[in-house]
Amino acid sequence: MDNSLFVYNSLKGEKEVFKSILPDHVGMYVCGPTVYSNVHLGNCRTFISFDLIYRYLMHLGYKVRYVRNITDAGHLENDADEGEDRIAKKARLESIEPMEVVQRYTVDFRDTMARFNALPPSIEPTATGHIVEQIELIKEILEKGYAYEVNGSVYFDVLKFNKDIPYGKLSGRKIEELIHNTRALDGQSDKKNPQDFALWKKAEPEHIMRWPSPWSDGFPGWHLECTAMSRKYLGSQFDIHGGGMDLKFPHHECEIAQAESIDNKPPVKYWLHANMLTLNGKKMAKSTGNNILPDEMFSGQNNVFSKAFSPMVVRFFMLQAHYRSIVDISEKALEASEKGFHRLLDAIVLLEQITPSETTTDFELQSWKQNCYQAMNDDFNSPLLIAHLFEAVKFINSVSNEKQQISIQDLESLKSSMHAFFFEVLGLAQPNANQVAADNSQLEGTLALLLEIRNNARVSKDFATSDLIRDALLKLNIQINDGPEGSSFKIN
Ligand code: AMP
Ligand code: ZN
Repeated sequence: MDNSLFVYNSLKGEKEVFKSILPDHVGMYVCGPTVYSNVHLGNCRTFISFDLIYRYLMHLGYKVRYVRNITDAGHLENDADEGEDRIAKKARLESIEPMEVVQRYTVDFRDTMARFNALPPSIEPTATGHIVEQIELIKEILEKGYAYEVNGSVYFDVLKFNKDIPYGKLSGRKIEELIHNTRALDGQSDKKNPQDFALWKKAEPEHIMRWPSPWSDGFPGWHLECTAMSRKYLGSQFDIHGGGMDLKFPHHECEIAQAESIDNKPPVKYWLHANMLTLNGKKMAKSTGNNILPDEMFSGQNNVFSKAFSPMVVRFFMLQAHYRSIVDISEKALEASEKGFHRLLDAIVLLEQITPSETTTDFELQSWKQNCYQAMNDDFNSPLLIAHLFEAVKFINSVSNEKQQISIQDLESLKSSMHAFFFEVLGLAQPNANQVAADNSQLEGTLALLLEIRNNARVSKDFATSDLIRDALLKLNIQINDGPEGSSFKIN
């Protein structure tokens, strides 16, 4: 049997044996969030997919350097280098500093990923922290002749690049098709051709996020930061580059062009793309409003689901689908995951209480283990792994009911495999061990409910009930303040 790890390489459109460039080491870069608003559950799915991949590579014994950036400048409102910078726009709308926007949503992102029990990356570099590297990269691309400067902005010359090195390898888009499909320039643009993309943009006077450069006071193009930071921390050729499917074009295609324009060699060995989370059959997205925030999910305060679901249940739900499949989130599916998650967890707890027999085991432990690894080695097939874990659950339950037996040695071995797959590889945890933050949202939900009951009591002049709630909460150091805008609480 082949024990190799196979990964689906988007660049080749097929599964390939994974062989790291350096023995035992893996360099992995994943495009991180643009921190201009709270991450929605769709974003989280992509990062949980790569958390699974990161965890499994480490489980296999690789030393992984996992770089995931924070986009805090340069990402404009649309992909055609048009519109305002997303962070600057948010700062303008709220009359705060762009870095306040960045700080607020970076903290939210990190907290959220911690609640999902996702491991932090090895390096989390920011675009604004790497302006110097980006300027150096533009100079190199200009020197190679694949970029041009117009009025203080610098653009990548896609047509010129394509004459020497084919453009569109990852997305499968042909340059002729792109020329045919992109709308003509409106005369306002400095670009030679609509397919070109910005490496540096001169800042208009009102643009607040700006840095000096040899070309103008301006800001870098979005695609450039990932090339600059991946090269800096992982080198000009590294093992894995990941992100959501929607980043394949233009973002990742442009990253390849930028890197190849300098070295004329592929920057990345394996391109991995995670598929989308949908809600009501449509992609979750910040821009359309078709999304749900993790907090709303954990507290149950949303208009989509009738109850709250814990971070571990949501994580388990996501891992029950393969990372390359589209998943639609629904109450029914989440409820099924909730049951499944607890069944699995109960069996792990039960394993500790099982009395082994002297010698017999009524379970093909070795081949079961092989099947688990085979599932994960087949492009990180977590749903299949989970299905195998449920076979073990059945067996554990029947040993507990004294219908089947397990030997002392096999019990130890089953325990260690179940633990490794459940906690280490799938990254699941006991729900109550999963941070105080989760408890906070539950506490807030409960307090909001109590306030509502108390308000109703006050409206119907049932002061005995309203005072009872106020006094009982005060004993717990939770103070209710009644004001003209309604009642609020403060935890002392
Ligand atoms: P952004 O903050 O928009 O740059 O997105 C951060 C990451 O989330 C990217 O890798 C996107 O591909 C990914 N993403 C955005 N929407 C979804 C979705 N509905 N499902 C899964 N991943 C998504
Ligand atoms: Zn990127």
